Amino acid sequence: MALSRVVGRLLGVRPYRVDPGGGGTRRVTEPVAAVVVGGGIAGMSAAVVLAERGVQVTVLEAAPTLGGRLGAWPRTLADGSAQVDEHGFHAFFRQYYNWRNILRRVDPTLRFLRPVPGYPVLSAQWPAEEFGRLPPAPPANLLTLLARSPSVRLRDLRGMDRAAALPLLAYHPERTYAEFDQVTADELLTSLRLPDRARAMLFEVFSHSFFNHETEMSAAEMIAQFHFYLLGNPEGLAFDCPDEDYATAIWAPLRRYVERHGGQVVTGLAATALHRDPAGWRVATVERAYRAGHVVLAVDPPALAALVAASPALTAAAPRLVTAMPRYGRPGPPYAVARYWCDGDVAADRAVFSGVSRQATLDSVTLYHRLERGCRRWAEQTGGSVLELHAYACDPGVDATELAERMRGELTGLWPEVSRLRVRELHARVEAKAPAFASGSHADRPGVRTDADGLYLAGDGIRTEFPSALMERAAATGILAANHILRSVGAATEPLRSVRPRGLLARR
Ligand SMILES: Cc1cc2nc3c(=O)[nH]c(=O)nc-3n(C[C@H](O)[C@H](O)[C@H](O)COP(=O)(O)OP(=O)(O)OC[C@H]3O[C@@H](n4cnc5c(N)ncnc54)[C@H](O)[C@@H]3O)c2cc1C
Repeated sequence: MALSRVVGRLLGVRPYRVDPGGGGTRRVTEPVAAVVVGGGIAGMSAAVVLAERGVQVTVLEAAPTLGGRLGAWPRTLADGSAQVDEHGFHAFFRQYYNWRNILRRVDPTLRFLRPVPGYPVLSAQWPAEEFGRLPPAPPANLLTLLARSPSVRLRDLRGMDRAAALPLLAYHPERTYAEFDQVTADELLTSLRLPDRARAMLFEVFSHSFFNHETEMSAAEMIAQFHFYLLGNPEGLAFDCPDEDYATAIWAPLRRYVERHGGQVVTGLAATALHRDPAGWRVATVERAYRAGHVVLAVDPPALAALVAASPALTAAAPRLVTAMPRYGRPGPPYAVARYWCDGDVAADRAVFSGVSRQATLDSVTLYHRLERGCRRWAEQTGGSVLELHAYACDPGVDATELAERMRGELTGLWPEVSRLRVRELHARVEAKAPAFASGSHADRPGVRTDADGLYLAGDGIRTEFPSALMERAAATGILAANHILRSVGAATEPLRSVRPRGLLARR
């Protein structure tokens, strides 16, 4: 393991500073007010940095609880037990440097994150493929994966189109998009001429994890994510997970942290429109308006489009932002999350988290009763189990209970013992809020800076000039938005890091 890191480092696979931070006063020297709309990862990351520097920051969150797509809220089961329901299982990868730095504010050693050492990808057709236990750094991780994978043999590698595969190793922040953004991930994978099994077990699971269908997703985006998770990442594909629900481990402590630093966090209050007057921005809500010189819109893509549409002032103040919205605001396909509380347990050797390939609906299964304290306690008391099933890109127009039952049926085909578990309770949701990374969308993807003075965007659909994705992109863009504000008032910025900026085979 250590050797792979040393070799990787010699090849430049290490953390990179993408913004050195510092540069100004430790705290703002005059009153500065900012409103952050959205209390998910992006918004709260911005709020943490701004509050620490003495900015009078107010977070407006529409939902009753913080967290957005990483949210968690209390729920009483029919048997009277208090449980915390969540938006769904999340893998905290180790190259999430910026998100982890935010989390260190409330747990300096990140003790609440426990390693999930390995995770298989399951299939009804082929034996499982193990993804977690690999050397951390490239090229050893890739070579080990190819050498030990039952899904690719030497003759398959000889048969594949190696020239078509080279772009995967040559990620470049401009050239990759110039050459591959008009191509779909499906077209790129087809051009590799991989055997069906290798494609299903090694690639398809990966593209689904970004909440997009590969027939629609940009090939450039897939290459970028291959680089961020595998080929430019010195930390490995293994990940960590909280051993406590997200409300207890993350959101309550982060809220207290922001408030202790003078910030205000208002939940259950949506921003309804933005107005611009000579004194700055006015963020309207149904209760009152909040005034500030700086605004960060850290909401999901459909919510951003709705807010921009409800704000006529932006037509003059931010015409490029307004033009980008019809496309940006269209989310990726719906995703479904179903949490089952059952009598009885699955086999003892089932992994805590498993990816699933080539089922019509089911993409992953997580054993919450072996993961988080609250579910563990419930299972110990009842002899039961808590299973969470995910579908990352499902058919539109199907209701949540139907999707849940489809997923459970598909799991029964993979793990026969599931048919013997009696369902006590089901919480099922289906939503469409994840950003679409459709082919051809990169040129119009908005960045953190908008064309209006003092107005910034943050979130997992916002463009970054360095490799990032999902939770890490949400945190990084939130910090970047805070940095723009801090720089404009002469205060010190927060350092930002990412993985190797270009692929191992990318020309300079
Ligand atoms: C089922 C599932 C599993 C996932 N698994 C992983 C994983 O394993 N690893 C990973 O890295 N990522 C994962 N993700 C992705 C991750 O959750 C997101 O990338 C991240 O949470 C996005 O954060 P955000 O702050 O950009 O947006 P959001 O979390 O969507 O936050 C936006 C917030 O804005 C609020 N809002 C909207 N409109 C308004 C308004 N008008 N006024 C005020 N507030 C408003 C919303 O209520 C919300 O709280 C997963 C997502 C899902 C759904």
